[in-house]
Amino acid sequence: MNEPLLEVKDINVEYRLREKVVKAVRGINLRINKKEIVGIVGESGCGKSTLAMTFLKLVDSPGKITSGQIIYHGKTDIDVLKLKPSGLRKYRWKEVSMIFQGSMNALNPVTRIEEQIMDTMLEHGYDQETALKRVDELLRVAGLNPSVKNSFPHELSGGMKQRVNIAISLACEPSLVIADEATTALDVVVQRQIMARLLKLRDELGISLVFITHDISLVANIADRVYVMYAGKVVENAPVEELFYNPKHPYTIALLNSIPSIQKDKKIKGIPGTPPDLSKPIKGCPFAPRCNKAFDKCHEVEPDLISIGQDHEVSCHLYG
Ligand code: SF4
Repeated sequence: MNEPLLEVKDINVEYRLREKVVKAVRGINLRINKKEIVGIVGESGCGKSTLAMTFLKLVDSPGKITSGQIIYHGKTDIDVLKLKPSGLRKYRWKEVSMIFQGSMNALNPVTRIEEQIMDTMLEHGYDQETALKRVDELLRVAGLNPSVKNSFPHELSGGMKQRVNIAISLACEPSLVIADEATTALDVVVQRQIMARLLKLRDELGISLVFITHDISLVANIADRVYVMYAGKVVENAPVEELFYNPKHPYTIALLNSIPSIQKDKKIKGIPGTPPDLSKPIKGCPFAPRCNKAFDKCHEVEPDLISIGQDHEVSCHLYG
């Protein structure tokens, strides 16, 4: 499981708007190993969806990947950001696919599910006969009865629609699936079912998964490694148990303290304040205005991400 599948090297993304430039992703390094589940967590606007889009070279105007490299280790190594449209067509969905945020509403309301799943395969070079045969199998893998293929989206519940999206993401047999807030619009019971299904897919199909969420508790039982993002940067990353039982960054600790608990004596603590405006220059640690451990240096110097042992990295002046 320690063989790298996708490596992200010092990636930077900006959104160039009329009056300002928003630095959404700022120098992120990240690695996804084969058959690994990686959680990327952080509040809305921290850059996690933008980061995920770089894995597929999907950042579009006014967004721009200004520097960095994405290397995909498939049968051969692929420098993703240098791919031309024909290369991208072979890479997207066949190597890496994505379940988009709000994708429950992405299904075509006037087309039956079978046709929608087949379209994905036909677009990526499958012949009609093979595509037709694979529909039942894909629906079964996503935890649905194959008879669902005859339905229109409005005939399905939210959880069923999201499972159809999982089937579509698996249609071209990718090695990596990125699930961007894939369960956000669902109730907690269906959320857990979808998470369990994704975990099973890793075990059955041997794929890697990236799970992007604002809810840190969702990745606790599923991820092997967790990256915590704040203000366009990774501020802490570690294997899941290390991160949950030995969190170091005050932001990670605050996120964990904000998880509701069934224990009577645990009070939920919100995180005061709001994330910084990424169109303005950041001086010092971006979390400083909200951090109860901030001291003078925090307001002057932005901390680097440093190793603190045990495969654990943190970006905070309290360490190193
Ligand atoms: Fe808090 Fe300072 Fe650490 Fe930032 S660097 S998280 S402000 S203690």
